[in-house]
Amino acid sequence: MQIPRPPIVVILGHVDHGKTTLLDYLRKSSIAARETGGITQAIRSFQLKTESLKLMTFIDTPGHAAFTAMRSRGSEIADIAILVISAVDGVMPQTRESIEFIKAAGIPFVVVLNKSDLPDSNPDKVKTQLTEANVIVEDFGGKIPAVSISAKTGQGLPELLEMLELLVSLHPPQSDPDLPATAVVLESRLDSQKGPLATVIVKNGTLRVGSAIYQAQVIGKARALIDSDGQNIKQAPPSTPVEILGLNTVPVVGSLISAAPMFPTKVPPLESRGDAGGVTESSGLNIILRADVAGSLEAILNALPPTVTVLSSGTGDITETNISTAKSGAGIVVGFNVKAPASVSKLAEVEKVSIYSFKIIYELLEQIDKLIVQPVVENILGRAQIIAQFKINTDRIAGCKCTEGVINKSHKIKIMRGDILVGETRIKSLKSGKSNVITVKSGLEFGAVFSPYIDFKPGDLIIAVEV
Ligand code: GDP
Repeated sequence: MQIPRPPIVVILGHVDHGKTTLLDYLRKSSIAARETGGITQAIRSFQLKTESLKLMTFIDTPGHAAFTAMRSRGSEIADIAILVISAVDGVMPQTRESIEFIKAAGIPFVVVLNKSDLPDSNPDKVKTQLTEANVIVEDFGGKIPAVSISAKTGQGLPELLEMLELLVSLHPPQSDPDLPATAVVLESRLDSQKGPLATVIVKNGTLRVGSAIYQAQVIGKARALIDSDGQNIKQAPPSTPVEILGLNTVPVVGSLISAAPMFPTKVPPLESRGDAGGVTESSGLNIILRADVAGSLEAILNALPPTVTVLSSGTGDITETNISTAKSGAGIVVGFNVKAPASVSKLAEVEKVSIYSFKIIYELLEQIDKLIVQPVVENILGRAQIIAQFKINTDRIAGCKCTEGVINKSHKIKIMRGDILVGETRIKSLKSGKSNVITVKSGLEFGAVFSPYIDFKPGDLIIAVEV
């Protein structure tokens, strides 16, 4: 059942306009003082209880231009935005960029005019600049609430929280805590002691210790959940930011993870296949990957599907050597936050090598998915789910349930794990109950022995195709 969940509030704005100081005051900790170089380097998150005991989740997003991609993700998971503008400096390039993100996300927002304790602060000047940027605040006859605050002294913060509560009451976010959790990855890294770590925000359902974690296939188990105060917790209900220990891979920032298996999205449902339909299956793709920094490079390499072969990878702009490698390896060049100098673009044109450039990791991954999905003319005749496994003598038997169509002993069998093709095989023996059979129909349970041997697991999907 859908019930209200705490709102997720994202703080956006130009660098140095006071986002960290504001959060800091709200959280009563001193993140700003501890930061290297004074610039917020990564998304952080915490929860706060307001005077009227309403829980809110805050996400701090970086303000530096290099973190544009991350910031856009911050606003995607948020229900409400706070646009922080220094009333001394006024509207700046990243303020305009933040306005674009908020508008694209279609979420309500509050303008915060910060640094009002300083003598040269000029809120009216900022409101006029905002009007020019098509954000008309309430004082100026518009609909956007604006609050003057000082993140340093705390002046105006009660009014800001009241304003947020009001916005929440107009657009109450909801979710179902009884579902298996889905969560968005805010930060992820490889810790030398603890292994892969991911900070996530639970969007729906409840994440529990002991739960398997999937991203198409299993990527580990939630061995421990740590909340934003560093405390071990047993479960994280909707809107809770939490760090997960126990993953066996570092999930890419901005991606979705789930406590329930995510079934193949690339295999169309039986009923939609039509006359010319068939299984779509992955074909190999060779790439040369270039990224601006090692962190992004590692995150992308970790998230690439296994059918992608990386011919070479490195940081920095795309080079002529990259184009030559792509040409000889029949591959493409993929750039993340890097440029291709004019001479390199020219060479790519001559050599007919495609260059794909991205600023957002999930867009890169989506494009790669599109490139590796190619239609193959094979008719899907049935599907089944492997629900158990048994061993009789030397045979490994898959206990299955036919979920769609029919499965016949003559069919070619594809075993899928998430959207990964585990392998192709044939049915050596097919049994329904105690009898040997040739065909099983939708709804029936059956046992199958495959030959050649295939390392199936309960949870895998069987697709029967016509030869
Ligand atoms: P961010 O880059 O947006 O996170 O900005 P910070 O929170 O790091 O703030 C940048 C600088 O402005 C820091 O030196 C803060 O101490 C200062 N600052 C932030 N808010 C205020 C404020 O309300 N009043 C004054 N006087 N200084 C502020």
